[in-house]
This record gives sequence, C-alpha cells and structure tokens, in this order.
Amino acid sequence: MASFPMIINGQRVMTQETMGVINPATGEHFARVPIGTPQHVDDAVEAARAAFPAWSALSLGERKAKLHELAAALETNMPELMGLLTRETGKPLKGHMGIGSGMEVGGSMAWIQVTAETELPVEVIQDDDVARVEVHHKPLGVVGSITPWNWPLMIAVWHYAPALLAGNTVVAKPSEFTPVTTLRFAEIANEILPPGVLNVVAGEAEVGAAIASHPDINKIVFTGSSSTGKSIMKAAAGNLKRISLELGGNDAGIVLPDVDPKEVAPKLFSVCFHNNGQTCQALKRLYVHEDIYDEVCSEMAAIADNINNGNGLEEDTDLGPLQNEKQLNIVRDLAADAKAQGATFLTGGVALDGPGYFFPPTIVTDISDGTRLVDEEQFGPIVPVIKYSDIDDAIRRANNSSAGLGGSIWSNDLDQAAEFAGRLECGTAWVNTHADIQPNAPMGGMKESGIGCMFGHWGLRENTVIQTVKINKA
Ligand code: NAD
Repeated sequence: MASFPMIINGQRVMTQETMGVINPATGEHFARVPIGTPQHVDDAVEAARAAFPAWSALSLGERKAKLHELAAALETNMPELMGLLTRETGKPLKGHMGIGSGMEVGGSMAWIQVTAETELPVEVIQDDDVARVEVHHKPLGVVGSITPWNWPLMIAVWHYAPALLAGNTVVAKPSEFTPVTTLRFAEIANEILPPGVLNVVAGEAEVGAAIASHPDINKIVFTGSSSTGKSIMKAAAGNLKRISLELGGNDAGIVLPDVDPKEVAPKLFSVCFHNNGQTCQALKRLYVHEDIYDEVCSEMAAIADNINNGNGLEEDTDLGPLQNEKQLNIVRDLAADAKAQGATFLTGGVALDGPGYFFPPTIVTDISDGTRLVDEEQFGPIVPVIKYSDIDDAIRRANNSSAGLGGSIWSNDLDQAAEFAGRLECGTAWVNTHADIQPNAPMGGMKESGIGCMFGHWGLRENTVIQTVKINKA
C-alpha cells in the first residue's frame, strides 16, 4: 500500500506508526500516512520561520513566477492527483454536471493562476510639500492552514496561494480523512519552492490545535465546521493571531412562481447535490412557491431516479459515496427524524447496501422549518423542499438561521430577483445560480458562517498587515 510522507523543511518525514486512509467507495484502507504530533508542528514552524526572511524578500514577480510553476505542476500531475482525490474523497473523476476530481484539480490550477496575478499596490494617501504618506501591505510571517475533507486540494490551494504570494511561509494540516492529495501536492510543490516555505503536517485534531495555539504562527486560515472554528478562534487569542474562518452553512434557495419547472429543476438539482451535498455552499434548503411546488419536486425526483451512484473511478458514475461513515450517519439520522415528523420522501431515504458509504440523492417534501433536516446543515445528498406562498415570509425563513454563507433567488425577473437577493443575510447572494464561485470575487460568510473572506484582492489582503509610512518633508 502506498505511503505518503509529511513535508517539513523540504524533507519527507514518516513516523513509525502510521494511519490508514479509507477509500469511502470500498470502506477499505488504500494508503498510509504519518501520524503527526505537536512536535512536528514545532519543527515545521521553526522551518517556516527560518525560510520567511528570504521568501518575503523576493520580489512580487519572483513569487508570482513560483505560483505559476505550481499551477503548471498541477497540470503535469493531473491524472495522478485526480486518482488520489477520487480514492480518498469518493467523488467521481468526472461526475454529474462535471463536478468531480477533474474539476477540483482544474479549479486548483485556475485559482493559483488568478491569485498569482492579484496585487496590492502601495497606496499613496498624500504627496505634497508637507509629507508623503504611503500604505504598504506587508506579509504577516508564518500562516497556519487547517483544511476539511470535502474539497481537500482546492481548499488547500485557496489557503496556500494567497499566503505565499503575499510573502508568508506556511504550516498546514489537511483533514485526517483526506490527507493524501494534499501531502502529494506538498511533495510536488517542494520541488519548486525553497525548503521551509510550505510545510504540511498530517494528523488529527491535536495537530490542528497545536497550530491554532502556536506562539510563532501569526495567522490562521481555517475552513471547516463552525464549532471547530470557535475553538480555533479561542486558541488563536494567545498571541492575537489574525484569523480567517470559512465555516459551515445552511444555504437557502427561493424559487419564484415565474420560472419554468422543467428548465429550473436540473439547475437546482445540480447545486443541491453538488459533490453529494458535501459542499459548504451547496443549496441545503429549497423554498419553492406553491404554484409550481409539485412540478419542481417531481422534476427533481425524476433526475434523482436516473442518477448512477457508484465508485468514482468508474466512467459512468454520477455521484460517489459520502466521504466518511460519520457523515453518512448524520444523513441517516436526519432522514429518520424527517420521516418521524411525517415528511414525504420522493426518492431515496435509505443508505445503499455496503461496502462503502453510499446514500442515494433524496428529495424530501411536506416538510418545513422547525425540522432538523431544515434547521441543521445536512452536508449530504438529502434536500428538504419547503412550500411557501409569500416571498417576504420565504425571505424571513431563509434568514432565520445562525448560518449566513450563501443564498439564491430563482426567477425570470432579474431586477426583482436581485432586489430579493440583496435582502438575504449571507456572504454571497446569487440569482439563478448557486455555489457559483470565482477566484476574483470575494467569498466569505455572515453570522456564524465565518470571519473574513477569501479570493481576489480582498482575500490577499487578509494575508498581510498594513504598514503606514509617513515621510515628513516640512
Ligand atoms: P471539521 O471542523 O470537523 O474539521 C476541519 C479541520 O479541523 C480538520 O483538519 C480537523 O482535523 C481540524 N480540527 C478539528 N478539531 C480541531 C481543533 N480543536 N483545533 C484545530 N483543528 C481542529 O470540519 P469537516 O467535517 O472536515 O468539514 C465539514 C465542515 O466544513 C462543514 O460544516 C462545511 O460547511 C464546512 N466547510 C466550509 C467551507 C467554507 O468555505 N465556508 C468550505 C468547506 C467546508
């Protein structure tokens, strides 16, 4: 079985005891990775600290060129990385609507390329006979990155690329469920980057906690659940680390009565079951106007009936398994609770026979707010469709959540839809699309969905600290 080392100070590091990584399509181990400890975090931070002066002293153009080399290396190694991603996450190589590991590796390349072209020029506030006042964006030092299991490579790239471009060095921890592609990427990246610039330590929560509390780390960027985000925020207070938190969501979509159910249903299906629902900004609660409710639900159910659940390595697989057993059990519990509350299941509802963690795409109707499946983040292939009659009431219900990541309005009246979208309390509000992100537009959460944002110059800025330089001429 293949082993994937950690990368600390440009060196491959294995531990005596190792951890098996499960392929969720089979339930069996397919790779082994080291079990990192807080001591490995200390070693990685020391290396990152030592690498910081030279890395931050490079010109922006030199760091940009390194990022473009990283993107090119992703392209060269795409087939291998896609295979590893599919084995560790379960997502198909291609998948329904092209949402699979090909999209993840391709998206990672695109994100690095666009980030590499992002700049934070010196701002001149005043330049006259009295003084010249400039605002510079300086690197912070060592950035700690902690990532989740749903889009392991892409989210790692979202963290690393802007941190490195800004002149920081990085100490990162992938999810213990999906460490393999990130470790392999770190190995490839360390053939391009100087030693110590990008260090990746494998391990469980204790490694994440050691990063969050480390006195020589200057900033934490974290993507994961809101509860872990709260622990990290507390741990980061010790040395007043900067934090960017991208957390859980419970995105609502509201469908107005003027849309054609046949036309809108495939689009809704795709964003509800994006990566099997295991996407932070997947559409997780769907509010549909009573005039078209039955038709939208039955059109979506017809699509679900034709979905091929299977091993992601097989060509014709639309949706793979859930990534881990714990997540499968969360989905099972939410389904059981909805059933007990009297909801109707148009499709699915029961886990498929093993091996593997398969649950078919499940459309649940005759359900409303106050049910766990509506109020909690399911993070899986089960979607509650809620009937509404009044748009103001639908917007109020969409906003009645501690989460505020994304939201959408679906209508042919774009002006009115944009007005309604503006009333949604969330970091990204879409019209006639959802989970539709791009590397040059900021993404962040309101309320308990996060602090700060990623992407574009807004995201890059979070990897810097401001220095004001005043040159007195008087
Ligand atoms: P998680 O919070 O359980 O784990 C995320 C990472 O944090 C893992 O690497 C884990 O080992 C580490 N960790 C756990 N406890 C820690 C601690 N006390 N200190 C430091 N690190 C710790 O999340 P998950 O289950 O991997 O991911 C699913 C969640 O992530 C969902 O809620 C989803 O919505 C959210 N998510 C958000 C975004 C976004 O951009 N907003 C993107 C993807 C996923």
